[in-house]
Parts: sequence; C-alpha cells; structure tokens
Amino acid sequence: MLGRDIGIDLGTANVLVHVRGKGIVLNEPSVVAIDTTTKKVLAVGKEAFRMVGRTPGNIVAVRPLKDGVIADFDTTESMLKHFLSKVKVKSLFVKPRILICCPTNITSVEQKAIREAAEKSGGKNVYLEEEPKVAAVGAGMDIYQPSGNMVVDIGGGTTDVAVLSMGDIVTASSIKVAGDRFDSEILNYIKKEYKLLIGDRTAEDIKLNVGTAFEGARDAEMDIRGRDMVSGLPRTITVNSDEVRGALEESVYHIVHAAKNVLEQTPPELSADIIDRGVILTGGGAYLHGIDQLLAEELKVPVFVAEEPMDCVANGTGILLENLDRVQKQKIKV
Ligand code: ADP
Ligand code: MG
Repeated sequence: MLGRDIGIDLGTANVLVHVRGKGIVLNEPSVVAIDTTTKKVLAVGKEAFRMVGRTPGNIVAVRPLKDGVIADFDTTESMLKHFLSKVKVKSLFVKPRILICCPTNITSVEQKAIREAAEKSGGKNVYLEEEPKVAAVGAGMDIYQPSGNMVVDIGGGTTDVAVLSMGDIVTASSIKVAGDRFDSEILNYIKKEYKLLIGDRTAEDIKLNVGTAFEGARDAEMDIRGRDMVSGLPRTITVNSDEVRGALEESVYHIVHAAKNVLEQTPPELSADIIDRGVILTGGGAYLHGIDQLLAEELKVPVFVAEEPMDCVANGTGILLENLDRVQKQKIKV
C-alpha cells in the first residue's frame, strides 16, 4: 500500500517532495517560466530552469520564492500544484496528509494561501512547519530531548540559524544571505576586476569548482568565458580560489555573525550542549568549500556538514510525519 503522507520542502532554489515509504520522489528547481503577454505558465521546474537567462523578450523564468518570501503568490501556487500533480497526489493517495516546510519569513496570509493550494491539490490535512526545525530532524538530531542542538541551513535565498531544545526553537535568526548572494558577489567581482560580464550559471560554476570560504584551504583555478564589457566580444580568463574567497568574504561573514548572535542569545546550559555536540550544517550552501572550517574557527565549536545536506529538510518532513502519528495515537489512548 502506498504511504499517505507527503512532505514538501518548498525551498527558494529547489523543491523536494518526500513520500512516506518511498523517500524523495521529486527534486526540481523552484523556477516557473511565464509568458508575459498572456500571463500563462509555460514550464515549471527542470524545464523552466533550462530557460533561465536564455528566454526571448516575452518569456520570463522566475523564482517565486527567491528571497525567502513569497514574491508572487499565484506563481508559487501554480508551482506547488504542478509538482503535486506530478506525484499524482489526487489519484494515488487516499486523503494524504501534507507537511509543507516553507520559508520562515512568510506572513500568516501567505501561510493560509499555501495551505489552500495544497488542499486544492488533494491534501486532506495540511501542516506547515518551520524550516530549521525540519532540517535539524532530517540531519539526524534528536531535538526532543531537553538539550541544545544548533543547525545552520544555508539555502539559495536565505540562511536560517536555530538552536532547538525539547522539540522547539529556542533562539533563531534568518538572513537573506546564502548561495544566491555568493553567486552575485562572484559575478560582480569578475565584472569589476576583469571588465567581463558572466551569467548567473557561470558564477555558480565558479563557486562550486574553485570557491572556498577558508583562506588557504583550496588551490584551484578555472577558465571562464564571458563578454568583454569594452569590446562586446567573447573573452576567456582564469580565476583562482584565493580571489573567489576574497569575493565571498563579506557575505560569508554575514553568516558567521548571524550564527554568533544566535549563540550569544542561547541560555548557557544549552551552549554547553552545543560545545559537546557541535553545529550541523544543512542546505546546498553547506557544500561551500571551507565553510565548516571557517565556522568552527569563528564560533569555537565543532562544526559538521550533514549527510546529504540538500535532502535534510525533505527527509525531516518524513520523520516529523511519523512522529505526528505517534502523537495522535498517544492522544487516542489517553
Ligand atoms: P533552498 O532550500 O533555498 O531551495 P538549497 O538547500 O537547495 O536551497 O541550496 C541551493 C544552494 O546551494 C544554491 O545556491 C547552490 O548554488 C548551492 N550549492 C549547491 N551545491 C553546492 C556546492 N557544491 N558548493 C557550493 N554551493 C552549492
Ligand atoms: Mg532549504
């Protein structure tokens, strides 16, 4: 029999759908391609992602959740419906429960609208949960004990830092500095330093292949092509790890400071637990080379990258839905 629980990681860069008993069944970029003249949705997810930066004038590829808030609700709703119809929620599941993990900064009106979109797509009971909590659970932390657990989730649009104890968030902070900002800092650096224009995808490639957050930790270089700002013609240059580290420094330190602030506001008993257990990094930004080393040095606590950091939230929804079962059963017994 198919599971009747569905978890959704509605991320700023990627949407993942987890089905109980099956694991992650969908993993696509949170991008929607829209025809600006007819306002019609032309493509969603992977297909729309291929159009980014390559669309003719009347088509735009948008990321509706880009900054961790819902900029365009109708588009978010179409995206959610499209993904839910792709996993055949209506036909395969009998009244599924849906747990949606969405950005921490959305308003109650937006929460209500997300819930309604999921209900229209076939969800029976729809629950919303805060991202850092789900990420921590998905990273294997036992957040239900009376002890401190700290998670830093670095996504595309936002970084969420939280200390959790007894199943709840004790202190937290969310900033709009994450993977996208790293890319734009690299793009701006190449523009300023080499008078060369590159696209977002090239900037991201540089981050992945030569970027690092920690001085002296990586020594790589890469040839990149772009458009010369003076001649207007294509040109190739070589970039190395150290200059990319320099370009990323300011934004990486925003994350360090957010984490420090959260630690400073954490009750001392819980801080002591964090010194013992360390901080866990989740989200795609956890893959940034050297970010764990830098945070460990700055925070003076051990720092670990979660296993499969980009899957933590989706896997966490699965675990939380199972716990929900346990809680409901206990309630029935009493
Ligand atoms: P969100 O939860 O906001 O959708 P994700 O957790 O999916 O975000 O992470 C997306 C971000 O992770 C992107 O900015 C992407 O560039 C970044 N990322 C993915 N892989 C790597 C890597 N190997 N090194 C650095 N950044 C990475
Ligand atoms: Mg995320």
